[in-house]
Amino acid sequence: MTFVVRPAVMTHGRNKSRIHRHYGAAGPFLQEGEGGPTYRPYTRPMIMPQSTALILDAAAFAATCYTDQRRTHAGDVPAVNHAISVAREIATTAGVDNASVLAAALLHDVIEDTDITADQLAERFGASVAEMVAECSDDPDLKRKERKAAQIEHAPNISPGAKLIKLADKLCNIREIHGADDGKWSLKKRQKYLEWADEVVTALGQVNESLERAYWTESKETAALIGPAPKKVNKADKKADKKARKADKAARSATEEVEEADAAMATASLDPIER
Ligand code: ZN
Repeated sequence: MTFVVRPAVMTHGRNKSRIHRHYGAAGPFLQEGEGGPTYRPYTRPMIMPQSTALILDAAAFAATCYTDQRRTHAGDVPAVNHAISVAREIATTAGVDNASVLAAALLHDVIEDTDITADQLAERFGASVAEMVAECSDDPDLKRKERKAAQIEHAPNISPGAKLIKLADKLCNIREIHGADDGKWSLKKRQKYLEWADEVVTALGQVNESLERAYWTESKETAALIGPAPKKVNKADKKADKKARKADKAARSATEEVEEADAAMATASLDPIER
């Protein structure tokens, strides 16, 4: 027997605008509420758009992927909490209600953290979601340092949806290290992470004003708390410094040798009686 699953709401234009009327032109969220974003009250009974099913399916899928994983550096919370936090920032702080972006946000780490592939995501959630997740995933063939450099390099060229996810991800991550004083991450590691996250966010360029503001507020507060990262000395500078010190030492010993020779000559030229 074949079941035909009918969407809760047909997504043609008329119904879309009906959903829109429930919230008003500004969408379902008020961004400037005191004590964080607040929700607009529903003026009519809630109807479930098909997109809600996509978001809930992505949440359930992520929870299943992460059954046994925890964020050890962040108070050992279940890994899926991070995925939900990233999606929530996009919905509440950024005020974005695009279902594909929110679903991709919920899934943004599954390629990196589990055996799930982009093809599997495409099959279940569609190409757009899978592409955004792939854009947010590091190349596993690269070394850690190369992956970090690649994130900065690629940041300006990824899609707007992937940029939103990356920005929200970095915001959630620095929020975690802000409070990570349990010894799992050393101070130096946290300082370096913050410095790098700032570089990635700068490289993203313009993404979403509210989310960017939230990131930089958090970054400044975290920097004030943990201090700046120790100054990087690059290899070439280190080598040049060593060479200069060596040359300086050689010059000094050459001068000393000349002075000793001069002194010896002066002594030798003295009359034996004067010695
Ligand atoms: Zn993440």
